[in-house]
Amino acid sequence: MRAAILYGPEDLRVEEVPEPDGEVVVEVQAATTCGTDVKMWRHGHPVLPPYPCSFGHETAGVRTDDGARVLVSDSVACGRCEPCLAGRPQICRDPAWVLGGFGERIAAPAAALHLIPDDLPFAAAAMAEPLAAAIHAIARGGAAEDVGVLGGGPMGLMLASLLLAQGRSVTVADRNPERRDQAAEIGARPCERLERHALVFEAVGRPDTWRQAVASALPGAVVVLVGGCPGGTEVSLPTRPVHYDELELRGSFHHSRDEVDEALAALASGAVPWELLRGETISLEQLPAALATASGGPARKWVVDPRRR
Ligand SMILES: [Zn+2]
Ligand SMILES: [Zn+2]
Repeated sequence: MRAAILYGPEDLRVEEVPEPDGEVVVEVQAATTCGTDVKMWRHGHPVLPPYPCSFGHETAGVRTDDGARVLVSDSVACGRCEPCLAGRPQICRDPAWVLGGFGERIAAPAAALHLIPDDLPFAAAAMAEPLAAAIHAIARGGAAEDVGVLGGGPMGLMLASLLLAQGRSVTVADRNPERRDQAAEIGARPCERLERHALVFEAVGRPDTWRQAVASALPGAVVVLVGGCPGGTEVSLPTRPVHYDELELRGSFHHSRDEVDEALAALASGAVPWELLRGETISLEQLPAALATASGGPARKWVVDPRRR
């Protein structure tokens, strides 16, 4: 079968590879791209196995054994470590990662699979993976009514649409005018720079935006840090507001199995305008060019169809 294989930074080759072997094999119909794929392609990533390796972690397709339409979640928590036993599988110490959506078929443990609601297209179902992370981030943030979201990329817009569906007032800050237009289209208030809010989500993943998130917090606010900075990064923060304003800085990472099912249900209910984020459908060969342009222009997720030539 054909698959996109990473050989090193910015070295992606589409090749014939052996059929995948695992508990269940899924014929990939749609695998969406995300910021993590850009990082994996550009510099590698801690969850990638050694090169050469396959990637793609937002994957929807059809089981080859029983024909069921499934989302292939990108990980299965171990269920035995301390965070797992404490009910926090998002930070499992020993998850099994399931990568390889950018290939014609992917093997996965049955525990990674989620049935796709009947009328939900594959491309939308694939977006349940990042959407589940947004659902988890909102659970980390609490119930404040006045919310600022820093970053109008796919994650920022997913956060905004879920918060708006809960009836909250949402401001989205982004320097990119196309992303501000998308924020306005979903009903958020767009701006270039946040004022101060009772709840702030950082959805960019850079040291300067982590600092901006703290600077955009009202006294007593919760700041949820959703965007992961490059490995080894350190961020300096002003101690004064963190201490005297009792800011709560909370990391947010990944999702649980239940949050993935919630995300599929949210997509099926129409609460999340996924079409707004849907980029072109592309072939495996078009992946490098798509990943290279991911950080500019409107927020969008390309839909890789590995069967396409
Ligand atoms: Zn992703
Ligand atoms: Zn665990």
